[in-house]
Amino acid sequence: MLRALFISLSESRGLRAIAEKSAAGRRISTRFVAGTQVDDVLQATKVVNQWGATVSIDNLGENVTNAEEARSSAGLYHRLLDEIASRRLQANISLKLTHMGLDVDENLAHELVGGLVAKAASLNSFVRVDMEGSPYTQRTIDFVRQLHRQPGNRGKVGTVIQSYMRRSEQDVQDLLADGIRIRLCKGAYKEPADIAFQKKSEVDASYIKLMKILMKSGIYHGLATHDERIINEAKAFALREKIARETFEFQMLYGIRRDLQQHLVQNGWGMRVYIPFGTEWYPYFMRRLAERPANVLFIAKNFFRR
Ligand SMILES: Cc1cc2nc3c(=O)[nH]c(=O)nc-3n(C[C@H](O)[C@H](O)[C@H](O)COP(=O)(O)OP(=O)(O)OC[C@H]3O[C@@H](n4cnc5c(N)ncnc54)[C@H](O)[C@@H]3O)c2cc1C
Repeated sequence: MLRALFISLSESRGLRAIAEKSAAGRRISTRFVAGTQVDDVLQATKVVNQWGATVSIDNLGENVTNAEEARSSAGLYHRLLDEIASRRLQANISLKLTHMGLDVDENLAHELVGGLVAKAASLNSFVRVDMEGSPYTQRTIDFVRQLHRQPGNRGKVGTVIQSYMRRSEQDVQDLLADGIRIRLCKGAYKEPADIAFQKKSEVDASYIKLMKILMKSGIYHGLATHDERIINEAKAFALREKIARETFEFQMLYGIRRDLQQHLVQNGWGMRVYIPFGTEWYPYFMRRLAERPANVLFIAKNFFRR
């Protein structure tokens, strides 16, 4: 119930406008967000690289409503790719298609994301297209497959599969047939029972099944989860099946289970931290509360302690 409440709050435009403008809101958001400026996220990336993990940088934002906003978001990602290269950071970028104008003009989104993938390819980097709610599942997969087919883009753009979606096994097979890199996660949105598993046990079982398919595929994928039981299962599977550690990576979110992130690095496993930044932090932040409502208490305690 609390999960549903926080997810519906994450969609409230009114609360979002108030929260994102308030100093208290920005202070609270630092639990999961590395500041509002490019320099903030580059500094956070440097620190994470120093202790041995790679990074994916997300410029927060989704559902833009005009072409100008979409162009400006893409411009910021161009700047990020340049800064990552010039500062020799171990990082790539993650973006959302609705942030690149998918709902405004699909051709524009293709032009903008295509430009970013071309730039990433020229810098030997990579663009991850995040997965949004179910109205975007098919559109995202089609978009990424089309982009990946273009000359020079092979291995330079990938997407995300959510294990809570009943359709995901077929989507995994389709993406693997094209050689596309996948980030596997459980899924962060509220989806109805006819298209998505509702019970944690079913979502976890689906994750483990898909994870094993990905790990045996010979393509480099990301296993995005903070679930220690699943991580242990992945490690055991890799050892049992003689799957080299360099052929996949674990991924976790900035500010969540840092102890586990560092433990994995210290034990020789690949680890990428997803670091979001920007002024439009509210929906992302609320989805993190939805995943673990106990975070509210944790954040409140720290807020009053400072
Ligand atoms: C790198 C990365 C990228 C992602 N990209 C997407 C995407 O593109 N699309 C999408 O729908 N979802 C995405 N997600 C979110 C994902 O779908 C889940 O909502 C989220 O990761 C929580 O699931 P879990 O696998 O950690 O397992 P859960 O079963 O939710 O949690 C397992 C354990 O992890 C810890 N934990 C989990 N979440 C939190 C939290 N918020 N705060 C504190 N502790 C927590 C707790 O100890 C919990 O017991 C991404 C997640 C990661 C790590």
